[in-house]
Amino acid sequence: MRLDRFLSKHPEFNRQDVRHLLLAGRVRVDGQVVGDGRRAVNDFNRIELDERLLQPGYPARYLMLHKPAGVVSATRDPQHRTVLDLLPESERADLHIAGRLDGNTTGLLLLTNDGQWSRRLTLPGSKLPKVYQVETAEPIGPEYVATFARGIYFAFEDLTTQPAHLELLGSCLARLTLTEGRYHQVKRMFGHFRNRVTALHRESIGPIRLDPALQPGQYRPLRSEEIACC
Ligand code: URA
Repeated sequence: MRLDRFLSKHPEFNRQDVRHLLLAGRVRVDGQVVGDGRRAVNDFNRIELDERLLQPGYPARYLMLHKPAGVVSATRDPQHRTVLDLLPESERADLHIAGRLDGNTTGLLLLTNDGQWSRRLTLPGSKLPKVYQVETAEPIGPEYVATFARGIYFAFEDLTTQPAHLELLGSCLARLTLTEGRYHQVKRMFGHFRNRVTALHRESIGPIRLDPALQPGQYRPLRSEEIACC
């Protein structure tokens, strides 16, 4: 479909508005300003007006949820309660999870229907810091700091983890910052020292911090500056 047709199908704009928006350089396709309405676009293009994503038929939605323990990071599960079950039915349509957490992990979980946004957020190359508070069964020694900073070899994937920053907060409590998201990564890193993680809580992803006003199970839409981070 042509870009000008895509824009004029939006309920807010008539054809004249569309011409003006294009001429003013306010429309971007996949990050590039496009002034020519004849440009062909499809559902996989990211079309923005100023900082706002325009989607065919449905608006883009971005939510942060304070994930409680005991619900699974999935949109459906035959046996367990999922994070989507925490939202009212009317909010659930089309949402997917940007960066899963284990069932017993709590904290910041992001949900969206914008696939390009979530891909940018979770791509290994994005290197967005993810910050976790970790409680362990055994004391955390000072040697963990250097080992995590050097990286730990994961035989299953045959790779060494990216340098991670560990801040000791108490004898069995620490804050860990990762720039990647491997399967059960935090638990496996502490597992290297045979130290079991007893509680894990994600505080932030990049500049998006879990809103302290949200109780476990509560959610809110992201603010525009939070969406703009990725
Ligand atoms: N690392 C883990 O081990 N579990 C999580 O839920 C997130 C990171």
